[in-house]
Amino acid sequence: MGSDVINLPNRNQLDRGTAIALLVLHAGAIAAPFYFEWKAVLVAFVLYWIAGGWGVCMGYHRLHTHRGFKCPLWLEYLLAVCGSLALEGGPISWVATHRIHHQKSDQPGDPHSPREGKFWSHMGWIIFGQARHNATRMMSKYAPDLAKHRFYIWLNNWHWVPLLIVSIGLTLWGGLPMLLWALCFRVVAGLHATWLVNSATHIWGSRRFATRDDSRNNWWVALLTFGEGWHNNHHAHPVSARHGLAWYEFDITYYTLKALESVGLVRNLMVARIDEGRLQEREVA
Ligand SMILES: [Zn+2]
Ligand SMILES: [Zn+2]
Repeated sequence: MGSDVINLPNRNQLDRGTAIALLVLHAGAIAAPFYFEWKAVLVAFVLYWIAGGWGVCMGYHRLHTHRGFKCPLWLEYLLAVCGSLALEGGPISWVATHRIHHQKSDQPGDPHSPREGKFWSHMGWIIFGQARHNATRMMSKYAPDLAKHRFYIWLNNWHWVPLLIVSIGLTLWGGLPMLLWALCFRVVAGLHATWLVNSATHIWGSRRFATRDDSRNNWWVALLTFGEGWHNNHHAHPVSARHGLAWYEFDITYYTLKALESVGLVRNLMVARIDEGRLQEREVA
């Protein structure tokens, strides 16, 4: 990438705004059980799936970063808005960071490698590493395909706006329990689940493919992240929209994509097959 390589892991600078936001959200998450309400828990669970499963796994990761399938533009945009509800930054920043991770996996320049410390790979890089969620123009160099869309530029700059609107609406409807569960607890759980893909699945689990990084297949991370835990499969076949390659590797995001394919909303699903060890593209008949 020449001289303008982004030096993401700058460990010396505390991102005060991010640290305070995370502190407040964690406090809210810890308070949530004291305001238990089934309605709030149910809404939190549904939002966890919408933001994490549809937004981050299906949208930000398998579509926007790796282009593992095609879908109508309105659905692309909708998935990006769902992704913003996870409070992991806008699509351009997320995609740029993740593309750098694939380029430099567990080598110098990887934004979040456990080789630089377990805590660092989990959340240290967010708090101390200048994750640059708002540096739209700089991050666009790594996501020029997204930066062509004014909508993605807007959403990247204002990634917290959809979450703010949803949170205000839910709080007006369900009061404090709803705020604590559907915002605080749900966002914190989603963040740690995503961070486990960066930390745990580069530390614990089995390796089917001899990739040049430390990536692993980890069943419990896969359960928490709608299939993203089959991370060694993913590093070996990044474009594949299917991460769980064996029948026993539960990958709910892939099953969702198959359902969307059957109703004509998704096409050109890229699927890696372990028996042949190569990527196959399946077209809708
Ligand atoms: Zn990885
Ligand atoms: Zn990836």
